[in-house]
Amino acid sequence: MTGLDILTFGEALVEVMRTEIDQPLDQPALFTGPYPSGAPFIFVVQAARLGAKVGAVGAVGQDAFGKCLLDQLHLDGVDTRGVHTLPDYTTGVAFVGYRQDGSREFVFHARHAAAGQISPQMLDESLFEGLKCLHVMGSTLSMHEGALQTGLRALELAKSAGAKISFDPNIRPQLMPAERARTAFAPFIQAADVLIPSAEELLLLGEGDSLEAAVRNLLRDKPERVVVVTQGADGCVVMTGEGRAKPDSVLSRMIPGYPVIEVDPTGAGDCFDAGFLVRWLAGDDPVTAAVYANACGALSVTVKGPMAGARNRIDVQAFIESHQ
Ligand code: ATP
Ligand code: MG
Repeated sequence: MTGLDILTFGEALVEVMRTEIDQPLDQPALFTGPYPSGAPFIFVVQAARLGAKVGAVGAVGQDAFGKCLLDQLHLDGVDTRGVHTLPDYTTGVAFVGYRQDGSREFVFHARHAAAGQISPQMLDESLFEGLKCLHVMGSTLSMHEGALQTGLRALELAKSAGAKISFDPNIRPQLMPAERARTAFAPFIQAADVLIPSAEELLLLGEGDSLEAAVRNLLRDKPERVVVVTQGADGCVVMTGEGRAKPDSVLSRMIPGYPVIEVDPTGAGDCFDAGFLVRWLAGDDPVTAAVYANACGALSVTVKGPMAGARNRIDVQAFIESHQ
């Protein structure tokens, strides 16, 4: 059996959301759900729908919500050898409310649920054999110490397997203060072949007081690295170096976003990451892969539901062609 294209790990959740906007979560009103969710799982399902061979490591409870998530993963052909069913915990849940201004309100049942129990022991070494790329999310590392330790161990195993490393910082200050994230994320940033931060995250994590300076430092450390800065509806910026001969030069290319009507922003970053990695691993140059990623990100916001906007490769291709 050949190895996986992409492996990721993290919080396995279902999402239960308000049916109408402006229904605060501290008052009774209607919810709909459960919908399979959790950033690493949205990512992995999007990558699977694009045709990649993918697996995820995480934990669910022995309950209907866990079955809901596992059924979806099986339907999409995700390798679930690494998804553990824990009899003593219930599956993690994210309750989501939407406000008129587009912002969201959350109540997470994760840290004390199965999702909060991930540990390095859950990383089966066989998942890393022949692996092409490990994708790590900072939001997962920020959940608790066990998650960070799992990330560090996964990094070690992926490096020994000769896999590429991809890192999306996804800083969540409510989970981990930015200062702490800087220290905790350092090994992942150092190892990353692909970094997918927002501009804000790049400024927080990169050494240097401007975007340019931060990227220059990141590319000087590892000239073959690719930095893709996501910019919401505006698209993204791909930044690469010119190599060791010109260590201080940064090639920067702005890729405009696709015009769509945003219905639900959940999962845009995750679908973008998946689109970029699947194409980049298949041999596309970073700019071509970023155009594709923009399409995945844009499509993901057009429908309600965390995984509903993760489209297959035929849909994404048709969407790109219809906008040329
Ligand atoms: P999160 O981590 O919360 O999912 P993020 O800040 O990492 O979000 P965004 O920059 O919001 O990610 O979105 C990722 C990508 O998705 C963007 O770079 C863009 O390609 C696409 N995207 C997001 N929102 C829109 C939108 N409203 N219209 C078009 N494309 C969008
Ligand atoms: Mg993000």
